[in-house]
Amino acid sequence: MNDSGITVPRRLRAPEPGWTTTADVIVVGSGIAGLTTALRLRRRVDRVLLVTKTVLDEGSTAWAQGGIAAVMSPEDSPAEHIHDTLVAGVGLCDVEAVHALVTEGTDAVWDLIALGADFDRGDTGQISLTREGGHHRDRILHAGGDATGREISRALIAALDRVRDDPGIEVIEHALVVDLLKDADERVCGVTLHVIGEGQVDGVGAAHARAVVLATGGLGQIYASTTNPSVATGDGMAAALRAGAVLADLEFVQFHPTVLYLGEGSTGQQPLISEAVRGEGAFLVDGAGERFMQGQHPLADLAPRDVVARAIIRRMRETGTDHVYLDCRHLGAEFLEQRFPSIVSRCRELGFDPATQLLPVAPAQHYASGGVRTDLHGRTSLEGLYACGETSCTGVHGANRLASNSLLEGLVFARRIADDLTARLGSGELPETTPVPPDGRPELLRGKRRIDVQRAMTAGAGTVRSADSLAATEQALADLAARASTEDADRQGGPKSWETTNLLHLGRALAYAAALREETRGGHVREDFPTRDDEHFLHHVHLRRSAAGVLTAEVVPVPRSNLEGLDLDASVPVDVLDEDREDGAVGSNPAVRHTNSVDGPEETA
Ligand SMILES: Cc1cc2nc3c(=O)[nH]c(=O)nc-3n(C[C@H](O)[C@H](O)[C@H](O)COP(=O)(O)OP(=O)(O)OC[C@H]3O[C@@H](n4cnc5c(N)ncnc54)[C@H](O)[C@@H]3O)c2cc1C
Repeated sequence: MNDSGITVPRRLRAPEPGWTTTADVIVVGSGIAGLTTALRLRRRVDRVLLVTKTVLDEGSTAWAQGGIAAVMSPEDSPAEHIHDTLVAGVGLCDVEAVHALVTEGTDAVWDLIALGADFDRGDTGQISLTREGGHHRDRILHAGGDATGREISRALIAALDRVRDDPGIEVIEHALVVDLLKDADERVCGVTLHVIGEGQVDGVGAAHARAVVLATGGLGQIYASTTNPSVATGDGMAAALRAGAVLADLEFVQFHPTVLYLGEGSTGQQPLISEAVRGEGAFLVDGAGERFMQGQHPLADLAPRDVVARAIIRRMRETGTDHVYLDCRHLGAEFLEQRFPSIVSRCRELGFDPATQLLPVAPAQHYASGGVRTDLHGRTSLEGLYACGETSCTGVHGANRLASNSLLEGLVFARRIADDLTARLGSGELPETTPVPPDGRPELLRGKRRIDVQRAMTAGAGTVRSADSLAATEQALADLAARASTEDADRQGGPKSWETTNLLHLGRALAYAAALREETRGGHVREDFPTRDDEHFLHHVHLRRSAAGVLTAEVVPVPRSNLEGLDLDASVPVDVLDEDREDGAVGSNPAVRHTNSVDGPEETA
């Protein structure tokens, strides 16, 4: 057990709750993970409360474009999907979790279809399946071309609307969960939350429950530039950390290499330029017009994401700039408009014409592989607390996520959580209990300091890290933390400052975990330790806040048998032509993606 010396407060500074409500289970978040959990729980548990920070369809789920992976074709098999997932995770996946993901994924997807999700179909009405980087079979379902997440979100919200009048479920939008409540035995038994509402439920209140499910999505806003929407501020992970839950694998962050660069002042969610554009022949150049991917990797501009991202960063450093360029001009206006209509129109809206101009691009954060550590039922290390979706670390992604496995993870583990909670609550486990006021000095960092957190994280704990860069990040965040505990002690905060403080707390934990891992693996790239080191780092880093309020790290070894049968060095690139296509069209390079179709079962489960 390592003591980091980093103090983590038990809670954010916020007004005392002015109102109280109760439920059996509180589900926090309305992406695929939260909505699926709430809908399944509602059928079996008396009182479900679903709260979400803004509106129901705001979150990464609705932005997912490429698709959802599942074994749907007779030519495919669970063993192959499991193998592809384990290879992508570079030896750190939890094999049992991956087994659950894949073997239950097919039924879960058919249930989603039965619920109303309308996936793209071929001429004969069969569901179209595509193949993406890292997958050896056609197993990616997609909807509306590039609108898979939007369709899944629509179907789940429509299902929720159909039961909205049911007294068994209550939905509160514009409800930001601030912190977790615990009883005297350290059991999680509710949340404090800020609601922009009317009447009694307005301002900060407390919601008490027998169990809480965190489904608050990712932490992309911790970096200056991300593909994630503005709600992705890691609130659930940070609240769990403050409450003493174990977080794992935080250092594994997936960066997307080609995100449209909108200028130094542009932060937050940025538009993706799909790898499919490079699949059609676009290539990267530096400011002098020189191609720099050739000779870096056999696949040159179509090398794996981390390879391309690293090469871009290197070239940016060499040339003293903050972006490079994507050259699509030779593809021609007609082809680009027909092949990538969404990308072209988005670029033109922003003042760039891919048919006539070089597109400025730079890497940006895309996906958090780590999160709140759970077991196979979504239970965290704290009794009464569950985590689901991108907020969780179920172990299915290991050091890197396989394309299109994240929507599937949210779907499968939401079902597992709902089933586990149903059984436990039904048998009288997790009885109602009384929260005790959290102790210790609260922290609050002004919302306007968010950019300082983002810059520190981007500079030192981003795409490429080193001991020196991480130390600089840790120092910058420590300085901000000093402000957070002393500055404006009379201020009670609000959504922006709570989110910013969450980013600070998570940033400190992430940078600390990244400093401990002196190797390069998956989404964690160290320029001072550029190779994988199974001898010393075949393990997870578990972080938690100790009773004394200090961040501690525990190294949890992974069995060497995890590596058996995986040819990690010769693996197919994990994410060449990944699921991020803005247009949803199938890449024309048959080596990396094909389309196939599959009939549905006679009846859906
Ligand atoms: C541009 C883009 C493309 C992607 N493409 C794909 C793809 O094709 N396939 C794939 O599998 N994955 C893809 N991903 C990843 C995938 O979309 C996410 O991992 C997944 O949707 C996460 O689902 P979730 O339910 O865990 O979280 P989200 O969908 O992010 O939902 C989180 C919810 O929690 C709420 N919330 C957050 N904080 C609080 C708080 N404090 N209080 C209350 N509510 C809160 C949010 O408002 C939101 O409702 C993509 C991601 C992005 C950004």
